[in-house]
Amino acid sequence: MKQLALLGSTGSIGTSTLDVVRANPGAFDIKALAAGSNVGLLYEQVKEFSPEYVSVATEQAARELRTLVGGSVEVGFGVDSAITAATTPGVSQVLSAISGAAGLLPTMAAIESGMDIALANKETLVMAGHLFMEAVERAGVTVLPVDSEHSAVFQSLKGHRKEDVERIVLTASGGPFLNTPKEEFAGITPKTALKHPKWAMGAKISIDSATLVNKGLEVIEARWLFDLPAEKISVVVHPQSIVHSMVEYVDGSIVSQLSNPDMKGPIAYALGYPARIESGAQRLDLTKEPLTFFEPDTDRFPCLKLAFDTLRTGGVAPAVLNGADEVAVEAFLNNRLSFADIYRVLDTVLQNHNPQEPCSIEEVVEADRWAREAATEAVESQGV
Ligand code: NDP
Ligand code: MG
Repeated sequence: MKQLALLGSTGSIGTSTLDVVRANPGAFDIKALAAGSNVGLLYEQVKEFSPEYVSVATEQAARELRTLVGGSVEVGFGVDSAITAATTPGVSQVLSAISGAAGLLPTMAAIESGMDIALANKETLVMAGHLFMEAVERAGVTVLPVDSEHSAVFQSLKGHRKEDVERIVLTASGGPFLNTPKEEFAGITPKTALKHPKWAMGAKISIDSATLVNKGLEVIEARWLFDLPAEKISVVVHPQSIVHSMVEYVDGSIVSQLSNPDMKGPIAYALGYPARIESGAQRLDLTKEPLTFFEPDTDRFPCLKLAFDTLRTGGVAPAVLNGADEVAVEAFLNNRLSFADIYRVLDTVLQNHNPQEPCSIEEVVEADRWAREAATEAVESQGV
């Protein structure tokens, strides 16, 4: 039985992970759970999976959960408590699926404690790619991608030599506004932006998919996971989200991984690796719809180019992009910023940042703090 710690258990990835665990009775034991404030769902998860330790984001949530669970499980709160969950003794794999920068410190702590990682929280790699990969090497742990594109690339690299890779191609669904004319972008509301045509995901990543920031973050994630320069990473729009990404080799062959768009697939791959286990995802019928591919439109979706630029700038630029984006997306969701202004906020903050190379996680955290402050000012001053 594999011992797991699940960070972000109440979210979209977290609940899909528990579906995979349920589909494989006797294969996994949940030793620790961490989440934010969804106490009701956590209580249900505690009853079903009997973890030893549970972490929530706030003291208030911890108080509520303790009232529900009595003394049956230890409950902590805050970042230190998420770190405790991530480093629970006896855990062999940590599934990291807290959303946003809040996942950084628990994931780094898990690596430093020698835990293997199944990584959904792409922000960790975006913010601190270099330091993350160094820590992985030092600790000798395995990182398996959960992000569907990276899982596809990982699978498509198996059995091939790295020096034979010409480039990797990440597929993008194009999001809900793939065919929306630029003139209509002014009328985009949070409700329409949250309605992703192919994937059911948390709010932040759904908006990132609508702006294509998500694909940009994934390019940065791929740069670190697969140790490839920006020039060897490209993006193609594939609205059906069946081909999850590809690797092109020097002989012109392309190897890819296909399945229905369901995160239970890549989650099961990361949890079962190297075995293939039951995912519970619906089987793919390739006769159902034609597969199409085309170039992304960086005029309507300038955030994609912006993210590529941060990779070339290097240093703290990706961390700054990520921090500013979290603030801009939240402002958009609260109707304080228009859809098109998300790009303007990111661009302004990036132009003003100090592009130094972070030497420690503390410096990454400081760049994130600065970016959030700068983005908050940019949102407030509207028309940035
Ligand atoms: P959700 O918003 O659905 O879930 C986020 C999870 O993180 C929830 O459990 C939430 O708790 C928890 N959380 C949020 N803030 C904190 C905090 N400060 N401390 C502790 N826990 C916190 O997000 P997703 O599941 O969609 O995404 C999770 C991660 O996986 C992201 O990094 C995303 O980029 C990545 N990912 C997601 C994919 C998807 O299909 N959903 C695909 C590929 C990657 P609560 O709800 O209890 O407050
Ligand atoms: Mg993805």
